[in-house]
Amino acid sequence: MLAFNVAQLLKEGIGATRHYELSGELYDIDEQNAGPVPVEGHLDVVRIPRGLLAQGKAHLAMAATCRRCLATYEREVDLDIEEEYVATVDVVTGYRIELAEGEDEEPELLISDHHILDTREVLRQYAVAAIIDAGLCRPDCRGICPICGADLNHESCNCHLAQVDPRLAALAGLLDSTD
Ligand SMILES: [Zn+2]
Ligand SMILES: [Zn+2]
Repeated sequence: MLAFNVAQLLKEGIGATRHYELSGELYDIDEQNAGPVPVEGHLDVVRIPRGLLAQGKAHLAMAATCRRCLATYEREVDLDIEEEYVATVDVVTGYRIELAEGEDEEPELLISDHHILDTREVLRQYAVAAIIDAGLCRPDCRGICPICGADLNHESCNCHLAQVDPRLAALAGLLDSTD
């Protein structure tokens, strides 16, 4: 599960904790990861004055584009999660909790009216952030030849010689013409 009923935890005192196993699927992380993308992890949730503090880890494998060769590859991603969820409804009285005076109205993570702590949007956002730095398909990715566009992981080309030294290129041209 990726969403949990925290009504009981909210009734407990500050500092009360629960451990949850994260297991489920994410959708619409980005164009390459429309989903379902399986995600696994765990979450420790602590009762704090305004709601709940969720801390944990999640792991998923996403499709990513190598920034050197532009190939699509599978990237393993570990997410370190720490988020505060604010309660919207008093779990005992059922009354809506108003924002305190002077509190900004930044969109925060809210525990639903039905006391559901839903981690999916947080996981999605962390996954988006993790995949922005797309990384390399492999540590020694050779990339694409900037001149002819050859994928140098799979083929070689002769452009490099020409690029290294224009005189050699001229010589190469000369040799070609004398063939
Ligand atoms: Zn690559
Ligand atoms: Zn080339």
